[in-house]
Amino acid sequence: RPLVVAIDGPSGSGKSSVSKEVARQLRLAYLDTGAMYRAVAWDCLDRDVDLDDGELVEAAARTLDLELSTSPDAERVVVRGADVTDAIREPRISASVSAVATNLGVRDELIRRQRAIIAAHGRRMVVEGRDITTVVARDAEVRLLLTASEEARLRRRGAQLGGTQSVEDLLEQVVARDAKDSAVASFTQAADGVYTVDSSDLDFDQTVDAVLGVVHA
Ligand code: C5P
Repeated sequence: RPLVVAIDGPSGSGKSSVSKEVARQLRLAYLDTGAMYRAVAWDCLDRDVDLDDGELVEAAARTLDLELSTSPDAERVVVRGADVTDAIREPRISASVSAVATNLGVRDELIRRQRAIIAAHGRRMVVEGRDITTVVARDAEVRLLLTASEEARLRRRGAQLGGTQSVEDLLEQVVARDAKDSAVASFTQAADGVYTVDSSDLDFDQTVDAVLGVVHA
C-alpha cells in the first residue's frame, strides 16, 4: 500500500541524513529533491548559462538529462552522463542554487518530474525538500516539517564541511540561503496537518525515532 513520507525543512536541519535512515528502516525509496535543483544549477554553470536569464535557466531545467538514484544507500546524480554526485555539493553550487530555485518555470518542471518519480515508485517513498508537504506531495500519507534552531543548524553544517569554514562563511551560506529560499517555499512554519519535529536538542537516532513515531502514529 502507498506510503509517501514528505519531509520539508531548512538546510542543516539534518533532513537528508534523517530522511535516508527513515527510508532504510521503512524499506522505502528515497528522493532528494534538492539534488535536482542543484543539478540544474550545475548544468547552467557547466554550460555558462547566464543565471539572470530566466528563459535560458527554465530551458535548462526542461531539457535536463538527469539520472537520479532513488536508493537511500547509494546517492548518485548523473547529468548528461557525467557523475556530479559530489560536484553538486560544492559551495559554488550552494551559492547559485537559489537563483535557479526561484525560477517558477524551473519549479514547474522539477515538480512535474518529482511527481512522476513518486508515481513510478508506486507511491512508496521518502521525499525531502522545501515544498514537498505543501506542493509536490500535499496528498502524502505522512507530512512532516523538520526544524532546528539556527544555532544547531550552523553547528551541524560546520561539522559537515569539516570545520574548514569560518562562522561568518557558514552564516552567509545557511542563513542567507534560507532567506532566499523562503521567497519560494515557506518551510519555517508547518502547514495545516503537517507535524513538526524540532531536532535542536535531539541527536541523530532520537530524531530518526521521532520521525518514525510520527509515521507510526
Ligand atoms: O536541500 P538542499 O540544501 O540540497 O537544497 C538545495 C536548494 O534547492 C535549496 O537551497 C533550495 O533553493 C532548493 N530547493 C527547493 N525546493 C525543494 C528542494 C530544494 O527550492 N523542494
